[in-house]
Amino acid sequence: MTTDQTYDLLGIGIGPFDLGLAALAEPLDDVDAVFLDQRDGFSWHAGMLIEGTTLQVPFLADLVTMADPTSRYSFLAWLKATGRLYPFYIRESFYPLRAEYDQYCRWVAEQLPALRWGRRVTSVVRIADPAGIGPGAGPDGAYLFEVTAETPEGIEKYCAKHLVLGTGTRPRLPAHLTGLEGAGPVVHTSDYLPRRAELAAAGSVTVVGSGQSAAEVYRDLLEGCGTGAGEHRLDWVTRSPRFFPMEYTKLTLEMTSPEYTDHYVSLPLEQRDILGREQRNLYKGISGDLVDDIYDTLYRKSALGREVPTTLLTDTEVVAARLDADGADGAGEYVLTLRHAQLGTIAEHRTRAIVAATGYAGSVPEFLAPGLVNLDERGRYDVARDYTVDDDRRIHVVNGEEHTHGVTAPDLGFGAWRNSVILADVTGREPYPIERRIAFQQFGLPDGEAPVPAEPAPRAALRQAQEPAATGPSVNQSDTKMEAAL
Ligand SMILES: Cc1cc2nc3c(=O)[nH]c(=O)nc-3n(C[C@H](O)[C@H](O)[C@H](O)COP(=O)(O)OP(=O)(O)OC[C@H]3O[C@@H](n4cnc5c(N)ncnc54)[C@H](O)[C@@H]3O)c2cc1C
Repeated sequence: MTTDQTYDLLGIGIGPFDLGLAALAEPLDDVDAVFLDQRDGFSWHAGMLIEGTTLQVPFLADLVTMADPTSRYSFLAWLKATGRLYPFYIRESFYPLRAEYDQYCRWVAEQLPALRWGRRVTSVVRIADPAGIGPGAGPDGAYLFEVTAETPEGIEKYCAKHLVLGTGTRPRLPAHLTGLEGAGPVVHTSDYLPRRAELAAAGSVTVVGSGQSAAEVYRDLLEGCGTGAGEHRLDWVTRSPRFFPMEYTKLTLEMTSPEYTDHYVSLPLEQRDILGREQRNLYKGISGDLVDDIYDTLYRKSALGREVPTTLLTDTEVVAARLDADGADGAGEYVLTLRHAQLGTIAEHRTRAIVAATGYAGSVPEFLAPGLVNLDERGRYDVARDYTVDDDRRIHVVNGEEHTHGVTAPDLGFGAWRNSVILADVTGREPYPIERRIAFQQFGLPDGEAPVPAEPAPRAALRQAQEPAATGPSVNQSDTKMEAAL
């Protein structure tokens, strides 16, 4: 079935970012939008809605507030509508429970007629625009995008002038854990909660990986450790040099800003790749409270000389995995080959079940016709500053630009700003004010300073400039010294 309507905007994928876009587009009379998702309804990381876990960003990072604080689709509006505003007010925490955020997004989704669930997009092509209404007609004339989606009832086709690719990320499982089975469960964190009981009953569980999800699963399973009857062994293996905390200080948080993104996008791509790896601890660490909670739980459980059957290993990589069907008295167990980064030595580790906290990966969807979007030499989206991936600036991506725009890409707190930019491109005006500067600090060299062409300082020199002199003046002065050095 082909819908005969031509939409101004068609979003593919309805995670929080496109849901936010739909909520911001809904009040705009000059935007006819439709959003397609293969799932039956909105669901946000259902496998990790562990009791008591919270968002890592404040409630203002909801779907709309940073673009339009008066929106009827805000988190506060949901609290009011569900009679939870006073309890939230008295709770006095900026950080909603993760389960609340999921409920809030579902509440918004239920109110937006532009959302179409159960639609799996299988192809996107350009078609000649019979009415010649497509903006910025390409070399071969006005065109529209034709989007084909599979539904339980058959095939649907949609036409649109602008596209937003919001297909998100997929759980990433290392090759040696993929297809591993025969003993207990091997589970990616995205599927943790439905498999929790099985894991707890497996007798021994090993969490592989680092970051917030790994820590949350370890903490959750730790409760069942050292309790005597029916207890399980619990181990945590991570390549990370330590269980490092997420960096959450305010001047660092200013890097989640339009102007830091301007600076980041202005750098050569290879420099951004290096920076991206270096900036991991900005969002791939563990919340400090959770690190301490894990320590305190281990302390509590080991009090009075009790043995807690757990090992925590850092700087250790799982390099191979196999099934030993006769292991664990014939019940079967997995044998992980571990390599220590500093020692360079390897060891075997046996476990009955595995939780892979190995993250998520984005990719360029195969449903895009060849040449429809610009790609870099590594086949990744080549994303312009305004989040477009085509020369006519009619195809935007959301949360597909971490390699080009940095830490703001997956950040819920930046979704509304990015969506405001997209709606400005679609409407040719600014339906929601777009802040250009929000930070006190300046990124890059101050404007107006006469730039002198210079080779970027080699990384080692830069890093040395950044280390405050061990015995020298305090931080502030070293900052001034640093500027002088560059
Ligand atoms: C456990 C967890 C907690 C997180 N907590 C935070 C946090 O507190 N703060 C924060 O800032 N960030 C957080 N993040 C990071 C980030 O916000 C989320 O990953 C967010 O869900 C990303 O949203 P998205 O819109 O990009 O895509 P997703 O939520 O991944 O949604 C993509 C959608 O696209 C659909 N789709 C894909 N392909 C097709 C197709 N061919 N046809 C139709 N539909 C398709 C999928 O069905 C899916 O619904 C967290 C991530 C995880 C994993």
